[in-house]
Amino acid sequence: MGAPGLVGKGVALAVLVLLMQACSPSESGNAPAMNAPATSARTYEVPAFDEDSAYAYVERQVAFGPRVPNTPEHDACGEWLARELERHGAQVLVQEGRARAYDGTILHMQNVIGSFHPESRDRIMLYAHWDTRPFADKDSTRIREPIDGANDGASGVGVLLEVARQLGLKSADVGVDIVFFDAEDYGRPAWIETTEGSFRDWCLGSQFWAQNPHVPRYRARFGLLLDMVGAADARFHQEGTSLRYAPNVVRKVWRRAELLGFGDRFSSKATPQTIDDNLFVSDMAGIPSANIVDYRIKVRPMGYGPFHHTHADNMSIIDRNTLNEVGSTVLSVVYEP
Ligand code: ZN
Repeated sequence: MGAPGLVGKGVALAVLVLLMQACSPSESGNAPAMNAPATSARTYEVPAFDEDSAYAYVERQVAFGPRVPNTPEHDACGEWLARELERHGAQVLVQEGRARAYDGTILHMQNVIGSFHPESRDRIMLYAHWDTRPFADKDSTRIREPIDGANDGASGVGVLLEVARQLGLKSADVGVDIVFFDAEDYGRPAWIETTEGSFRDWCLGSQFWAQNPHVPRYRARFGLLLDMVGAADARFHQEGTSLRYAPNVVRKVWRRAELLGFGDRFSSKATPQTIDDNLFVSDMAGIPSANIVDYRIKVRPMGYGPFHHTHADNMSIIDRNTLNEVGSTVLSVVYEP
């Protein structure tokens, strides 16, 4: 289906400017000041998001098998992510680090970072986690086995790989860093009673990065996290942590989605604050970030969809239309920030 809204918008603006230039009063000798609106009108051509490409990127990650840190499947996928970003012209850095998991396991992490226009001081940071949950602790069966993580992990990365492909084809005015964080989903399983402070079990890759940014004194205008952005019935309410740290970014992104015709999916309702990579990127690294995350307000106690941390999180729940709505919104924000 592509992104008809975006293409239409770009074309419409281009046509508008051409018309204004064609009717330019300066050609009939009028004062140059009359020209100002025409010459200052800026057109932005936003590339069309390719949902088939994004879907294939999700599929490809799932084909590696679960991407659990310290496994060969994980490492193979990490290498592929770096190669893919490089192929699209990004300057790639694989940040290796170690972290202690809730059970004492030392996790060998790789944050995979692709920078477009690394020389630009004006930057946007786009990110998602690429690891998958080592357990299916919300399932009723095979709860100690890892999940596919087609949605929780691969969907956000898939959309951002397609964004990277587009950035390789047509560069944006702003510098863009695409960051794939590792070890987001290794938090203690539900069968262990939660203790206070356990939120630090999660998001180990982004916590590591926030303390050791890949560029000293790294700054970005804002950050945008994508998490679980592939389910057919996904709803993107305004997430509480995003509203706390980055209300303007939330407003900008949600307004853009609405303009593109995705207002049904990008709702104006607020959710409670959640623990996700945007908390650590906003709070520890000071990059105000919004999280586009599928959160179902009516589901208690944690408002994620029925696939969440179960074996149902596989390719069968991934929907091209959802990927397209998220990807088109992200491209629009990147090319017309
Ligand atoms: Zn998860």
